[in-house]
Amino acid sequence: MPSFKTSDMSSDIHVDLSNGLENVPVSIEWSIAVTKFPEFQYSPDNIQGPGCTIDPSEVTLPGCSCLSRSCFPENCSCLQTCGQTYDTTGTRLNLNKTNSGYCSPLFECNALCTCSDACSNRVVQRGLRLRLEVYSTEKRGWGVRTLEAIPHGTFVCEYAGEVISFEEARRRQRAQRSEDNNYIIGVREHAGTGCVTETFVDPAMVGNVGRFLNHACQPNLFMQPVRVHSVVPRLALFAGRNIDAQEELTFDYSGGYSNQPPVELLSKQSDAAIQASRADGLQRKECHCGANHCVQFLPLDVSIIN
Ligand SMILES: [Zn+2]
Ligand SMILES: [Zn+2]
Ligand SMILES: [Zn+2]
Repeated sequence: MPSFKTSDMSSDIHVDLSNGLENVPVSIEWSIAVTKFPEFQYSPDNIQGPGCTIDPSEVTLPGCSCLSRSCFPENCSCLQTCGQTYDTTGTRLNLNKTNSGYCSPLFECNALCTCSDACSNRVVQRGLRLRLEVYSTEKRGWGVRTLEAIPHGTFVCEYAGEVISFEEARRRQRAQRSEDNNYIIGVREHAGTGCVTETFVDPAMVGNVGRFLNHACQPNLFMQPVRVHSVVPRLALFAGRNIDAQEELTFDYSGGYSNQPPVELLSKQSDAAIQASRADGLQRKECHCGANHCVQFLPLDVSIIN
């Protein structure tokens, strides 16, 4: 994987941050005022990091046996858990609100499915399709804006990076100096059976364009774990409303979204609070969302990323 170094930078605004690894180039607006660009290795996909026992690039989920061009919820095993997720244009149909108010997990068709590549249940796996630009914001360091209008419900990009264990996430967080940015996002999913899945993604050293997204309390993107080939979810970001060209793209690092089901709002907390909260989550055997699933964002200190 090619690494992206400050020395590679020039004043050419057409430089592609992804080094050709994405379907479309990720632009950088390079201003004279900016002297330092973070060094990191660009990866469009999650990679296996310390403590992660599953390689996210391996196919670990079963496929459906649909013979149609596109799958339908009535007979597709991939769509049976969550219902139809996307319309024929790949737009999120709804926010999958359940009686509990929580999101259901999303499963896309994968490499083992017998449906076609054109199946409407393949969206996040197609990768970046929109022209995005990383730019230097006035007060909040680097940010990401869109160079084209984005309709509500459109998949925008992933928040991809190293998938690490909780212990590694905690170790990295403790090793951070106060001036360091924290990029680690933790997502906890409760299955109806009482089973809890936690996923920690750190794009600090290896990551995609998602690492440059700023936080906003009224964001225009929302995050949702989506599973494609692997049981390790991808942290997908969708447009929560219609977004105009040139708007900055933001999401709520704590998982909230004004129109979204109430994922637990988690703010900056002490390490002890993280431990307590985590223990609470793990010990909670029954899940109030019954047969459905719910998603929470873990109380890591994710208040300041950029
Ligand atoms: Zn399919
Ligand atoms: Zn199917
Ligand atoms: Zn399928």
